[in-house]
Amino acid sequence: MPDTRYIFVTGGVASSLGKGIISASLAKLLQARGNRVTIQKLDPYLNVDPGTLNPYEHGECYVTEDGAETDLDLGHYERFLNTATSQANNVTTGRIYQNVINKERRGDFLGKTVQIIPHITDEIKRNIKLLGSKNKFDVVITEIGGTVGDIESLPYIEAVRQLKWELGSKAIVIHLTLVPFLTASGELKTKPTQHSVKALLEIGVQPDILVLRTEKDLASDIRKKVALFCNVDSKAVIQSIDVKSIYEVPVKMQEEGLDEIVMEKLKIPMSQKPELKQWKNFLSKLNNAKETVRIGLAGKYVELPDAYKSIIEALIHAATYNDYKVDIELIQSETITGKNVAEKFNDIHAILVAPGFGHRGFEGKMATVKYARENDIPFLGICLGMQCAVIEYARNVLKLNKANSKEMDHTTPDPVIDLMENQKNITDKGGTMRLGAYECMLKKSSNIYNAYKSDSIRERHRHRYEFNNEYLPLFEKGGMIASGINPDTELVETVEIPSHNWFLGVQFHPEYSSTVLNPHPIFIAFIEAAIKNKATKDTNAQ
Ligand code: GLN
Repeated sequence: MPDTRYIFVTGGVASSLGKGIISASLAKLLQARGNRVTIQKLDPYLNVDPGTLNPYEHGECYVTEDGAETDLDLGHYERFLNTATSQANNVTTGRIYQNVINKERRGDFLGKTVQIIPHITDEIKRNIKLLGSKNKFDVVITEIGGTVGDIESLPYIEAVRQLKWELGSKAIVIHLTLVPFLTASGELKTKPTQHSVKALLEIGVQPDILVLRTEKDLASDIRKKVALFCNVDSKAVIQSIDVKSIYEVPVKMQEEGLDEIVMEKLKIPMSQKPELKQWKNFLSKLNNAKETVRIGLAGKYVELPDAYKSIIEALIHAATYNDYKVDIELIQSETITGKNVAEKFNDIHAILVAPGFGHRGFEGKMATVKYARENDIPFLGICLGMQCAVIEYARNVLKLNKANSKEMDHTTPDPVIDLMENQKNITDKGGTMRLGAYECMLKKSSNIYNAYKSDSIRERHRHRYEFNNEYLPLFEKGGMIASGINPDTELVETVEIPSHNWFLGVQFHPEYSSTVLNPHPIFIAFIEAAIKNKATKDTNAQ
């Protein structure tokens, strides 16, 4: 296809309607018909990226291969499409303004007054077209964060209006809204959708397709009514009904004909039949698994499960490929103590200690690692989770009672986890961690080697602290080994206890690269170990 097509996805009525999932599902369907598709998220906040945001604000910070700290929706894009995203796939208002102001300081505007229109809108348009310009993609889907009517979203919608005008039939707008069901009157209500489309029209944008989130089936008269009031074809009014799993949405959208109407409007030839065999295979495994394996996740943001989005999804992928359902118990690490840990993890088949920053919940994570280690329970520690495993081993096995990470105790006599050398002079917080994918060499016959069946891997990082190599000989003599090493820097990337049933700590984040079609080998092996542990527990209980 010679020219890139652009699809803009906006949202109205309420936030959290799942624009990311709808965008990812549409992308999946277009990809299944042979198109090269990418998705971009434009976020209307002033942070330059979400790396500095507390997970309670915005959920997990997702990290791309090229080291961008991004919105968690990019995780959905990668999990659905099975292709990598990059810095260019997530742009915030903060970054747009930063770029424009940097240009102004350089004198690029030649004395002109710098304004929202055209300078900010031009920068937004440049960022949207950037993904299409390299001729790598047939379709670019741009999801506009926020809800139509927000002051913050206005420059984005204005940029969409201008682009639609410039690109003609090569651009369409899909507007996602909510059709609430009023229990008292037993009715589905379309008025909020009408108002939301009106708000879009007031700023000059006519949506081409409406996707209506609903709890109940929308009868054809309701769709016709929405079509009439909102100037869209009635077949372009698509319902998106609540489903059990986000992975069912592409199939539902296909049943509704979303891909066909999009291709028709964008004049993309419909030569290829959609290829969704593997996807449907996954769905059938997901729906037919009978037995359940239970994972306990110790973390400090458990009140907001979105803070652990990629970990949760990676566990679901791995359990599904093992023909199991997974029950993930999120346990607040602040509440875990040496006394109650056995009770908290009662009935759990494997334990995961989550990533994190700072003191809160740290000692609870230590108690959790000790419990998993001493009771031979399959254990996976990710990033801070690995650092906890190292500190716990130092304190309780190597008898370095005051061992700690310099992050938690600056004055520890045994800093088994220390600030990385190149982090020591860094004062800025944004975008300054060790970020993105790095190579790691694995030791033969370790848990991690057995999982990947390869001795060289690449995984994504996001941290400032590292295993202190001065202590490595002591650890290896004492029974904890470094099973993965960065070949360029000698950094210890993974640790294991070979005498333990299944124990693995990883400094990187394997959860970011688990996708529906490529479940992650570490999570597959972790779930396998959990299933084995369950079988042993069940036999012992008989
Ligand atoms: N706080 C730790 C560090 O910066 C771990 C970070 C993480 O878990 N992502 O090294």
